[in-house]
Amino acid sequence: MASLDMDHPDGPRFVADPLAVPSLKCGAMEGLKPFVAAPEHQEKLGFPGELVPDWKEKALEKMADLAKKNRAFQVYLDTCVKCGACTDKCHYFLGTGDPKNMPVARQDLLRSVYRRYFTFAGKYFPWLVGARDLTEDVLQEWYSYYHQCSECRRCSVFCPYGIDTAEITMAARDILDHVGVGQKYSNEIIGKVKDIGNNLGLNPKALRATLEDLEEDLEDDTGISVRLPLDEKGADILLITPSADFFAEPHIDGLLGYAKVFHEAGVSWTISSYASEAANFGLFIGNYENMREISLRIRQAALDLGVKRIIFGECGHAWRVAYSYLNTLAGPFDFLDQNYPVPQHICEFTWDLIQKDKLKFDKSKNDEFRLTFHDSCNVARASRMGDMPGGQFEIPRAILKSVCNHFYDMERDTIMESTLCCGGGGGLLTDDLLELRKKGATPRMTALQQVTQDHGVTHMAAICAICKTQFSKMMPEFGYEMDSIVSVHQMVGNAIILTGQETDDTEDEEQAVPA
Ligand code: SF4
Ligand code: SF4
Repeated sequence: MASLDMDHPDGPRFVADPLAVPSLKCGAMEGLKPFVAAPEHQEKLGFPGELVPDWKEKALEKMADLAKKNRAFQVYLDTCVKCGACTDKCHYFLGTGDPKNMPVARQDLLRSVYRRYFTFAGKYFPWLVGARDLTEDVLQEWYSYYHQCSECRRCSVFCPYGIDTAEITMAARDILDHVGVGQKYSNEIIGKVKDIGNNLGLNPKALRATLEDLEEDLEDDTGISVRLPLDEKGADILLITPSADFFAEPHIDGLLGYAKVFHEAGVSWTISSYASEAANFGLFIGNYENMREISLRIRQAALDLGVKRIIFGECGHAWRVAYSYLNTLAGPFDFLDQNYPVPQHICEFTWDLIQKDKLKFDKSKNDEFRLTFHDSCNVARASRMGDMPGGQFEIPRAILKSVCNHFYDMERDTIMESTLCCGGGGGLLTDDLLELRKKGATPRMTALQQVTQDHGVTHMAAICAICKTQFSKMMPEFGYEMDSIVSVHQMVGNAIILTGQETDDTEDEEQAVPA
């Protein structure tokens, strides 16, 4: 849908509205389902291999257990007053028009069953309160629509009661796993982390070879020996970063940016081959035990290597797990240097150095980029950075403005706490959900197109591995080059001047000296 912008500096014109409410398309996404996990992937995570014969009893038992242990989950199920404030706030609803992708409708898929079995009115007058029996069709509907939610929490920002649909989605997925119907993509990845240490299944030898190659590239590029250390005992800092940083663009350029910052800061640091993954898909499947097991690998790596600090690289949901849950899941971290918060984000580390004037930049190195910034959902709505409210919005932007001359924000109602999901978060970054991913990305991409139209923006920066991967795939669908998505630390790495590094100025000076 387009609207007329009468106040545009270039005169009135039609602009697409990223938040335009679509016409309803009932059943448009019905039956869309990601592949189901194979028995061996289920069992590795402690779940039944396939649908158990007594699945109904088991599902209700698990629902009761979750409602008892997670007070918020029960409050969310009991509280909704159907005010409608959340209905048009989900990017999947905006992109698909399917009314079951309205957050309140998504919640009701589970709430209606909860009411039937756990409330007085639902037990005796189900037709009065919208309660329904748990049937195999309902189970299939859960599998479909709870895998059309990226757990982004945008809807919860607009709910007057703070009802968080993401928590309900996580609970539904946990119930599904407990009856033997897990999602292939997430569960297979969790299995790889348990076996090898990262989502990619990259073994220590391959990881070492990759890092050595990158060190050579860095030296060729800068003339300076910048290290990417692996398993170095006694290093001060353990970097926990998404494994995407080891193998794909634009992630790798972000990793090179962290390495340059660490080098210039003069700190000793290391990556761990045992905990070579920041991502924690235990969050996506809503399963505490798996989330804990993955988190404990980080604690173990920190103890084994004898580090003093833990810093996380650019990964959205990993930062949520780290910031909000790491201490509960794997703490206490009393063996680390208590002068530093546990954990720290690489953006906090870099911004601290910038504020202390410890890094030198040539911003013109980024002049080919006219940048905007995509706030990743889990950073924006489920964590913080620095010691001030809103630091998670301000710090990445402050870094970008320190290293680039051209920065323009997208419309205010599509960024920061209102940010629009990339469309591939929450365990949906799989090709069997490509259609959903494109539709879900449409609001964000429309907001990007707006800022391209208004300010000539060419690139979008992000601090989340999932966002970067999703946008690399989506950019060409919306008229951009695939590499129009960049890492924040890629921009830092482009502009940083390493001590002793030859710059254009030094070359000019050398040429000016008479022979
Ligand atoms: S959490 Fe995000 S994806 Fe899920 S219903 Fe709410 S807005 Fe939609
Ligand atoms: S905004 Fe909250 S209370 Fe209103 S319909 Fe949505 S979930 Fe229910």
